[in-house]
Amino acid sequence: MSSAVIEAVRDRILVKLPVDSTVGIVWHAGEPTAAPIAWYEKAYECLKPACPPGGNFAMQSNGIAIDERWIDLFRRTHTNVSLSIDGPERFHDLRRRTRNDRPTWHLAMRGLRRLQDAGLAVPVITVLHPDALSHVDEFFDFYRDNGIVDVSFSIDETEAAHLKSSFSTSDQKSRLVEFLRSMLTQSYRFRYPLHIREIERVASVLAGAKSRGNEQVDPWAAITVAANGNVSTFSPELMEVHAPEYKDFVFGNILLDDISSMERTNLFRSVSSAVSAGVALCSSCRYFGVCGGGSPVNKYCERKSLAEAETEFCKLTTQASTDALLTFLSGKYLNGSADV
Ligand code: SF4
Repeated sequence: MSSAVIEAVRDRILVKLPVDSTVGIVWHAGEPTAAPIAWYEKAYECLKPACPPGGNFAMQSNGIAIDERWIDLFRRTHTNVSLSIDGPERFHDLRRRTRNDRPTWHLAMRGLRRLQDAGLAVPVITVLHPDALSHVDEFFDFYRDNGIVDVSFSIDETEAAHLKSSFSTSDQKSRLVEFLRSMLTQSYRFRYPLHIREIERVASVLAGAKSRGNEQVDPWAAITVAANGNVSTFSPELMEVHAPEYKDFVFGNILLDDISSMERTNLFRSVSSAVSAGVALCSSCRYFGVCGGGSPVNKYCERKSLAEAETEFCKLTTQASTDALLTFLSGKYLNGSADV
């Protein structure tokens, strides 16, 4: 990404935000540590002064390249780092391999240790495949034994170039619910404070601490800027989707266009109205209160339309997390026992 794109993000987006906006800038897509540290320093110096107070920076990394120099950068730029680690070695190494087909778990764990030794909180994202779901104890032990207290479970999903999810062969929702419920049970039993992000999101909505806000259906709540300056919104992953009828969801280019001019295009209006139609269809769903209308990218990739409601993805994420939490709580309180 060139300096011109970074400056355009500053001038056409950040400086125009209300002062009370909550802004998070996430370096994502590909492996961000493939870019030089000096690039991030320069980008931070350009963007940070234009961010509203409280603006924060984050990076999603595979952890392989993280060393003292990166840790120093994260400290100086207050960048929160999450690592992609797919659980125990045998699960992670099945799919996360180098270009030369070498395993990467030890390298990712080395990055985790370095960050932990530096005193940084390190959330982990684990992509689950069906073969993991029968091994909840192994996964729980992995997080506990390695001091991981904040985990987000993604599922192997049908999205962009990934045309078939490994979960699409049969209904795996009940297995996923049981996996998450057992993970909660283990955490409770061992008094280990494992925060599962998807469960906590549902819990905070149910407890009234958070609205069900769904930034994926709220135009411009999340703005994706590609290295060449192309701009998209709604689901960040829409940027990777080939969709000729929607011009690949590119609403403009930040080097040439303001957000307000992108918003006036027929393309934006057409996508926005299809996303809204999908949310309207979702409004009768029993999970709508915690979901808010799902993920447009998964609707499009699974159903070939944005104006859809249920997807395999929402069944395996929002619905499974909600069911797991409610099952866990009903067992705990109805049995009156910690051994749920
Ligand atoms: S869970 Fe699925 S069907 Fe229900 S509101 Fe969310 S996206 Fe729509």
